[in-house]
Amino acid sequence: MVVRAGREFLAIPGPTTMPDEVLRAMHRPALDIYSDTMVQMTGSLLRDLGTLFATKGQTYIYIANGHGAWEATLSNVLSRGDKILVLESGRFAVGWGNAARAMGVDVEGLKGDWRRAIRPAEVEARLRADTRHEIKAILAVQVDTASGAINDIEAIGKAIKAAGHPALFMVDAVASLGCMPFEMDGWGIDVAMSGSQKGLMAPPGLGFVAANDRAREVHKTADLRTPYWDWTEREGAEHYHKYSGTAPVYLLFAQRQAIDMLFDEKLENVFRRHSLLAEAVRRAVTVWSEGQMLGFNIAEPNERSNTVTTVAMKDPAALLAYCKNMCGVILGVGIGDLQGKAFRIAHMGHVNAPMILGTLGVIEMGLQALGIPHGKGGTEAAINFLGETVAA
Ligand SMILES: *Cc1c(COP(=O)(O)O)cnc(C)c1O
Repeated sequence: MVVRAGREFLAIPGPTTMPDEVLRAMHRPALDIYSDTMVQMTGSLLRDLGTLFATKGQTYIYIANGHGAWEATLSNVLSRGDKILVLESGRFAVGWGNAARAMGVDVEGLKGDWRRAIRPAEVEARLRADTRHEIKAILAVQVDTASGAINDIEAIGKAIKAAGHPALFMVDAVASLGCMPFEMDGWGIDVAMSGSQKGLMAPPGLGFVAANDRAREVHKTADLRTPYWDWTEREGAEHYHKYSGTAPVYLLFAQRQAIDMLFDEKLENVFRRHSLLAEAVRRAVTVWSEGQMLGFNIAEPNERSNTVTTVAMKDPAALLAYCKNMCGVILGVGIGDLQGKAFRIAHMGHVNAPMILGTLGVIEMGLQALGIPHGKGGTEAAINFLGETVAA
């Protein structure tokens, strides 16, 4: 009946599949957190996070998931009553903004559309209207993992500059760092954050933040600062203070190994791998869409992310159950406005052609087995694309 024995394949957009090397890196006896090994480990990670974010600014490692890193960014640069502008493109910037509101910040949303990326011209227009510069920070995500949109962070940075607005530009790169270009300094970003468990191929539990000098200046007078998240507390020479306490030893070994693997592959190759595999997924979805039962959530082809594809579909539960129970492939469910109305295919982190083609093949198998109308040959279109693009 079923063909699912063997390793289950996790195709959800985080946490993502971890390389065996990363799993093995954690398998070691307890270690002295005051040892040179740990001090050097922290130094190397803080340095390499600067490379990943492409910044000369300061980096910080928190024992936290993405929500924790959100709170780290907010508490270090904002004060009670500050106004911020949240650029909506799905669910995640809204979630970040909700955290700010709960902390006492005055949050204004720049309304977005679940089927579109942020429009930089609208950001510029809103900022130009803020002649008194009441907006203290602007929050955006690079990839919205719910809608599947990629926002043009560089263009938004330029729009902020064009408006001559001094607000801090804060960007969430949880579903994109290590998968696609991110240029914190080059794009005018003041604060960036990410997490260990998506493109960075490590277990959940580490939150990463980077801040430039402008943000660290604002930090000096921020009144939402609390001891655990506080940048100043973590900047001293004492290694113990880098984590506000005990270092997350095993997660650090895992993250060290994962970043080594990304650097060995070379980031430009990692980005290219993601773009090829994402396009293979899009070729398949394009063909399946001909059946009129499913289609891309994101309307504009150039606004579709290279890390996750959100497929709009009425009642996807049976398809997801088939893929999981019969074939051992776990797809992402629709979340937020798309709950029960979409599924998500992750192509983020430790993924290669067999993983992606296998996932597409299983989805196509499910569409067929369940009698869901779809254009035939989606997986074949993905194979054809890769066969033409990946030269022998
Ligand atoms: C997953 C995700 C988060 C939240 O991360 P958690 O580790 O689940 O708290 C934030 N932003 C984006 C864009 C994400 O994809």
